[in-house]
Amino acid sequence: MKSFMILCSLVVAAVSQKLFIGDQVLRITAESHEQIALLQELQGLEHLELDFWREPVRPSLSVDVRVPFASLQPVRVFLQSHGIQYDVMIDNLQVLLDSEMEEMNHSRQRQRNTDSFDYSSYHTLEEIYSWMDSLIAEFPDLVSKLTIGSSYEKRPIHVLKFSTGGTNRPAIWLDTGIHAREWITPATGMWTAKKIAQEYGQDPSLTAILNKMDIFFEIVTNPDGYTFTHTTNRMWRKTRSISSGSSCIGVDPNRNWDANFGGPGTSSNPCDDTYKGPFAHSESEVKSIVDFILRHKNVKAMVTIHSYSQMLMYPYGYTSTPTPDADELYAVAKSAVDALGSLHGTKYTFGSMISTIYPASGTTADWGYSNGIKYSFTFELRDTGRYGFLLPADQIIPTAEETWLALMKIMEHVRDHPY
Ligand SMILES: [Zn+2]
Repeated sequence: MKSFMILCSLVVAAVSQKLFIGDQVLRITAESHEQIALLQELQGLEHLELDFWREPVRPSLSVDVRVPFASLQPVRVFLQSHGIQYDVMIDNLQVLLDSEMEEMNHSRQRQRNTDSFDYSSYHTLEEIYSWMDSLIAEFPDLVSKLTIGSSYEKRPIHVLKFSTGGTNRPAIWLDTGIHAREWITPATGMWTAKKIAQEYGQDPSLTAILNKMDIFFEIVTNPDGYTFTHTTNRMWRKTRSISSGSSCIGVDPNRNWDANFGGPGTSSNPCDDTYKGPFAHSESEVKSIVDFILRHKNVKAMVTIHSYSQMLMYPYGYTSTPTPDADELYAVAKSAVDALGSLHGTKYTFGSMISTIYPASGTTADWGYSNGIKYSFTFELRDTGRYGFLLPADQIIPTAEETWLALMKIMEHVRDHPY
């Protein structure tokens, strides 16, 4: 009976999940600004339902796009007729999704047998929330949980607080999972949270950080979107709020902050993946953080973690005018990516957001910096596009391990440069 019910629930899950059979991810290499303009034209053809994993902005940055099976022929014809080069990065997206699902099911089986949490697998929101409670139970003197708000669909928004005492100490803010489909980031977040808890009292450098500062860590920053990627559409990026006057759902929570809101690199179309929202902080997932940080008044660093592209960036995203702290932020980013690369040889690019990736307005890091948080950084974790958002689970631990070295460099710098 039990196995029959498990089978039924698997069938239900399989039926309600959007399928991506035959969808391909193409890597397009534009050789000129004219070709970039053509790709932007292609992007505007809504009936093709293209999903740009990396948008066309300039020739030096390759473009990654998921093409639904039904649109493959017209897209290939378009690219070939204009002499635009491309490679197939992912031949059939559904094959990767199936193996990802299979891996999660195996991991659940393993965990039932060993009763220990599997950091080398992806997890649902329920699993992550229950893991949070076990972490707190394991390290009650160091770790606690704050609920800073609730999502559009009324899920609680939890933040882990690592504190060795004191009141309103200078603090470091970390967040993962603000974009729903970037599964490697909450997975890295959980490993990192456990590492912080475990290393306190062991690693002298981390111990010195926690003796001076608190760390706040929001592991699932977009709980509705994250849940939606597990139940319905693995490729979802945005929140799940309803837009008035449109049948399209959701806002890009990394375009919704009050930092040149609505400027370059944002969309006013609710159907787009970079839709900025009706007004700044319209999304409760964003507003909850804003309210928390403004109330706290002593946050000294804000590190927001995305995937993919292997980049470490600092403000600004909306203008190419450097910040007054650009030299220092450059030096911190350089030491962080050097440390990161020393473990597995993973290569990161780094710099201001606009120079490293593309113009983007209304982002977390620009908001942090504009609100007096000097050490505001954005990570883009593995990989560089071979798997993109579908990074295989066997890369979770190596990704988390190398990212830890970079995070430590940043946190040590913040500890040693009070302001
Ligand atoms: Zn992202």
